[in-house]
Amino acid sequence: MNALEYVPVPAFEDNYIWLVSDGRHAVAVDPGEAAPVRAYLAKRGWQLSAILLTHHHQDHVGGVADLLNGQDVPVYGPAGESIERLTYRLKSGDRVSLVEPALEFRVLDVPGHTSGHIAYFQAADPAGTPHVFCGDTLFACGCGRLFEGTSAQMLKSLDELAALPGDTQVHCAHEYTLSNIRFALAAEPDNLALQAWRDKATALRERGVPTLPTTIGHEKAVNPFLRADQPAIQTTLAEQLHESVLDRLTAFTLLREWKNRFR
Ligand code: ZN
Ligand code: FE
Repeated sequence: MNALEYVPVPAFEDNYIWLVSDGRHAVAVDPGEAAPVRAYLAKRGWQLSAILLTHHHQDHVGGVADLLNGQDVPVYGPAGESIERLTYRLKSGDRVSLVEPALEFRVLDVPGHTSGHIAYFQAADPAGTPHVFCGDTLFACGCGRLFEGTSAQMLKSLDELAALPGDTQVHCAHEYTLSNIRFALAAEPDNLALQAWRDKATALRERGVPTLPTTIGHEKAVNPFLRADQPAIQTTLAEQLHESVLDRLTAFTLLREWKNRFR
C-alpha cells in the first residue's frame, strides 16, 4: 500500500483543514473555506475524492458547496446536526470506507462543543499508525468550548478519545496550542512535560510550523482537560477559585469555566 500524507492546510485565522492523500486523490476534513484547499490540491496535483465533516460550525463546513461545485464528491457528516449537502449521515459505530485514498474510519460520537459532534478514527495507516480527526473536541493542551453540550458530555467524549491508543495522531482543527499551554501552566505549573512542550511549541510557532498533530499519549501527559483527576490540578482549583473540588467532573467543569475567562 502507498504511504499516506496528512497535511494541515491553514484557513482563516487559526483553522486547519486536514487533507489526507495517497499522492493522487485527497480527502478534506472540515473545509471551512474552499480557496486554500483548492489552491493546495492544484499545487500538488491531487484530486478531491471525499469530504468529512465533524460538526456544523461555519468555519468547518463553509467551503463545502464551493468545493463541490458540480463535482460528484461524497460528503460525510454527523447525523445529529443540520448540515446541507450531506451524502452520508453518520453516528457512533458507523464505518466509513473510502477507496481513493484507501481509508477506513470508525465514527465516534463526541458531543460537548456541539450536540452532534463526531470524530473519525482510523485504526491504522499503511505504516500501522492510528489517527483521529476530532474537529473542535480535543485540542493540543485544550478542549472545545461548550456551545451546545454539558461538561459531563464533554468529559465523556474526551474520555472516549483518551481511550484510543497512545500513539494515535490527533488532528485538531485549530492552532490554539500556545494560548492553551499558557492556561495549562496556570492549572499545573510544576508539570515538567508541559514546561518542555511550551518550549518546543514556542520554537515551532516562531518558525511558522504547525504544532499538530499531537498524540493521545502526549495529551494525557500535558492537557489539563484530560488530567482533571490530578491532585496538582485540583489543588490549583481550590487555591485559585476557592472552590472545594470533590470529584473529577467538578474539577473538569471548573477548569472549563476558568479557561473561558482566562486571558
Ligand atoms: Zn466549532
Ligand atoms: Fe472551529
